[in-house]
Amino acid sequence: MVRKLLLSLWIAVCLVPAYAQLEHPASFDGKSWWEHIKVLAADDMEGRDTGSPGLKKAEAYVVGQLKAAGLQPAGVKGYYQPVKLESRRLAEKESNAALIRDGKAEALNLGEDVIFNTRVDLAPAVEAPLVFVGYGLSIPEKDFDDLAGLVLKGKVVVLISGSPSQIPSALAAHYQTAGERWKALRAGGAIGIISIPNPASMDVPWSRTSLNRLHPSMELVGAEFDETAGEKLALVFNPAHADKLFAGSGHTFQELAELAKERKPLPHFPLTVSIRAKAKLKKKAVESANLVARLPGNDPQLKNEYVVLSAHIDHVGIGEPVNGDRIYNGAMDNASGVAVLLDVAASLKKHPENLKRSLLFVFVTGEEKGLLGSKYFAAHPTVDPKSMVANINIDMFRPLVPLKMLTVLGMAESDLGDAARQVAESVGVSVQADPQPLRNVFVRSDQYSFIRHGIPALALDIAPTTPEEKQTYQDWLTNRYHAPSDDLDQPVDLAAAGKYEDIIRLLLVRVANDAERPQWKPDSFFCRYAEAVKE
Ligand SMILES: [Zn+2]
Repeated sequence: MVRKLLLSLWIAVCLVPAYAQLEHPASFDGKSWWEHIKVLAADDMEGRDTGSPGLKKAEAYVVGQLKAAGLQPAGVKGYYQPVKLESRRLAEKESNAALIRDGKAEALNLGEDVIFNTRVDLAPAVEAPLVFVGYGLSIPEKDFDDLAGLVLKGKVVVLISGSPSQIPSALAAHYQTAGERWKALRAGGAIGIISIPNPASMDVPWSRTSLNRLHPSMELVGAEFDETAGEKLALVFNPAHADKLFAGSGHTFQELAELAKERKPLPHFPLTVSIRAKAKLKKKAVESANLVARLPGNDPQLKNEYVVLSAHIDHVGIGEPVNGDRIYNGAMDNASGVAVLLDVAASLKKHPENLKRSLLFVFVTGEEKGLLGSKYFAAHPTVDPKSMVANINIDMFRPLVPLKMLTVLGMAESDLGDAARQVAESVGVSVQADPQPLRNVFVRSDQYSFIRHGIPALALDIAPTTPEEKQTYQDWLTNRYHAPSDDLDQPVDLAAAGKYEDIIRLLLVRVANDAERPQWKPDSFFCRYAEAVKE
């Protein structure tokens, strides 16, 4: 820890003067950023749900802006890269779930007690004993195994989301992805998962999650993308009702939740109840698209390499009304990120002489459905996969307060983290690593799709620095995150947005012009993906 810090300070001292020499240090004021958001998050974009007419309209706007700015199309059909998806909706009237206690069925209320996770291709009927597996994590590199010694064959596991404190946040986040988690459980013979959200890290209140439970989920078409094959049942259990699961086990949910809040180890034990569930899924083919634009670099060699700036353009669409509003506009999530890409692309196009490497601007679809567009793009990029040297992703960076500090997700994983620190500090902004590891944000946006293909990546968010500011961010999550009120009628700090755009542009130029391509830190867990790509 200390060694790394000293090293990065040393680099900062050596390299800071380079930024002062930038030829065109134009700066943004946030106004153009807000103009784009006014279009993308307007009600007539209908919340930009994946595959919807609203999203197509938003994409047409972005394509128009890219054309006008003179960016080259770099998709499959012009700027577009088509993405094939399957949507799945639960037919709730034909579905049910119950706990079986001493041979008697106690019906569970769908929505109140449990929600079916339709991202998993649920089996029509499941009946199985339950076992509590703590966090349900198996992390060989840290000799941590919640599953050790447990008999999982034919069982549905019950787990609390989260991780013990000895697991670094990026690693914990990685092993909590649906695919990684399922690998270990499947190897042990489990047939399903009941997950209980950790009350210490719930971004969205249960009532709101429940309200939109019948909104279709989506998956990429193709076996290569099916990470939960063999998972027959996937339920999310309301933490407020979780004692129904633990009655008779000698444990209470409150006792377990307190341990999970402190990131302490959790016990493992069989439950006295078993689960019986029926799920009917309605499936439909959906077409959507990523958008890809190129800004060529000028170095004869390095122009064949790309620095990728990405942001998801989709949001969650039209849903159940909250305070009479049905349109989930997604202004901060993530019209704001799209607007940064448009501003930065247009600005750099005006000064292409600054760039050695080429830049790729990727507007991905299906993020809200599970990083689907980026997963597809990273697996089937429209440029040579080995030519992508770095990904910087922007998702919900939230300029709610003046920009004094950035949270850099993935900061310790690659030397991109050092670059971000130096660039931020050059304009008087400090940086911090992920302050809330329980929320798993590192794997919750599109940078993760690039990381899994060996590409060093980062995501940057504006960080609150005082207790009042922290409360502002927490309130935003509780009230506006994935709610209709993430719309144009909310206070944002335009100067902070502009400064953020300056930093993103400086960082892009810095990475595009560096003699060396970015490298994973040798001790980063994510090195393994880069090694796998090289082989
Ligand atoms: Zn979102």
